[in-house]
Amino acid sequence: MRSRVEERLDVTRLLPGARTVVALACNYHRGDEPSTIARYARGRDYHATMRQRLRGFRRRLRERWPQVKDYGSVDAAPVMEKVWAARAGIGYVGKNGCFITPQFGSWVVLSALILDAEVDAYGDGPAADRCGRCTLCITSCPTGAIEPGARVDAGRCISYQTIENACEVPEHLREAHAGMTFGCDICQDVCPLNDSPVLAGERFAPRPVAALSALQLAGMTREQYAQWIPGTAMARAQYDGLRRNAAYALGAAREQAARPVLERLVRDEHPAVREAAAWALKRLA
Ligand code: SF4
Ligand code: SF4
Repeated sequence: MRSRVEERLDVTRLLPGARTVVALACNYHRGDEPSTIARYARGRDYHATMRQRLRGFRRRLRERWPQVKDYGSVDAAPVMEKVWAARAGIGYVGKNGCFITPQFGSWVVLSALILDAEVDAYGDGPAADRCGRCTLCITSCPTGAIEPGARVDAGRCISYQTIENACEVPEHLREAHAGMTFGCDICQDVCPLNDSPVLAGERFAPRPVAALSALQLAGMTREQYAQWIPGTAMARAQYDGLRRNAAYALGAAREQAARPVLERLVRDEHPAVREAAAWALKRLA
């Protein structure tokens, strides 16, 4: 991604004549119920929520300025939302690589709306860096993934491994997966700037799937997957990815009660699930 920064910041590729980027942040924290799923993914897929809000905003803009063209992005198109949000002054990128706002801490999802018109006033960000001498996120990361310069090594980050890596997770990282089946909130949970989360609206309310244990997710059938997962951000990991993650979580936690499910999964049709279950069973021995 780093090699394409300049290209990705050239928003005229997405909207010819682009003059303005409107950066938007939306808080999603909904409380501290125990879950093996990262907070942002416990409810309805935030992409859908943010897209719907963007649509409403665009509609209102078009009513007043029908000639203005726009291009909206919610963590999908090659728009660097964090960079634009920082430039707009609504926060800054903390040492953990997360975007931190004064009101909501880093419990926010970002989106951007590009316009081919100039507006009356522009942000003069980024907002002041409040990390100071704190290094809590760096010392708390179980895989040592946070590097100097607010950079996170995706190859070592549990969040990346449980969501984006469809193959086997490197063995030395698996032990850190205890209690986590999709994403990781550790570097946000320990952040003192996240101490007073503002409760998000109903749209971010956790779905029943958020309360499922790693054991329940590991043993999930395709029918249960179809019932629980579509419409949530967890769908990105797909059926096999979620069961693989759950097997790692069970092995990492040495959960003896998981033996029957893991013994079934070592004969699974998906190789990464089989391998994860075999690794987990070895940990139970
Ligand atoms: S999400 Fe988890 S693994 Fe990734 S950098 Fe933060 S603490 Fe480390
Ligand atoms: S834990 Fe400390 S260093 Fe890390 S992002 Fe929060 S304030 Fe910054």
